[in-house]
Amino acid sequence: PSGGRRSLIIANWKLNGGIDLMCTSIATLVGKEFDTDIAVCPPYIYIRDMLSLLHHSEVQIGSQNVSKFESGAYTGETSAEMLKKVGCSLCLIGHSERRQMFRENNISCNIKVKNALIHGLVPVLCIGENAEEKEAGITKDIIFRQIDEGLKEIQDYEGDVCIAYEPVWAIGSGKSADPELAQEVHQFIRKCLKEKYGAGFAQKNRILYGGSVSRKNACELLEKPDIDGLLVGGASLDPEHFLQICTQC
Ligand code: PGA
Repeated sequence: PSGGRRSLIIANWKLNGGIDLMCTSIATLVGKEFDTDIAVCPPYIYIRDMLSLLHHSEVQIGSQNVSKFESGAYTGETSAEMLKKVGCSLCLIGHSERRQMFRENNISCNIKVKNALIHGLVPVLCIGENAEEKEAGITKDIIFRQIDEGLKEIQDYEGDVCIAYEPVWAIGSGKSADPELAQEVHQFIRKCLKEKYGAGFAQKNRILYGGSVSRKNACELLEKPDIDGLLVGGASLDPEHFLQICTQC
């Protein structure tokens, strides 16, 4: 990335692994020095275990989702306040799997983003076009709408936000976006942020790329001026592979 932004690399473990793999993964990261910020998003149930293994490491822990509700009769939900109090630093919001399978949309994402900000969590708003939208040449319209609605009124809140551009067709497919193409979209996202929230906001907040990131393409992606980090799914389940992604560039 350019602009003095420090890269952020996030592991998204999704609904994978068990406590043994997760402990090994954290142990592989703890005690290492990184030139980038590193975060891991385990399933909710393992968040406390992972936090207890950090031993003053700078690795951050995040959640894969957050409730749009604050508290009350909402069976199965976990609030931003709970996540912050337990020690999380960030939360993923609106991952494409949640949009596709759990009916999340830009409006629910906006409520979640604001909840995260209120409680001091960094919201990582995931956006991106699917294969048909890419084919139809409407990537930028989709992205614009996801930002416009997903970040609506956030100027009234303090705190950093993070955007993760994850083209849906690149997730878990082994077909990462070409770094040039990803840079073009990231530049467009930064322009949208600038027009809506000002140059300072666009300059300081990070835009990550996600979708089939591996040790093979990580460095080339991170070299691009508007790619400020990575959101890594599959490759983050292999502790050594993820460590390489975090240290090699
Ligand atoms: P992937 O997943 O790296 O396995 O493509 C990325 C994501 O879904 O965040």
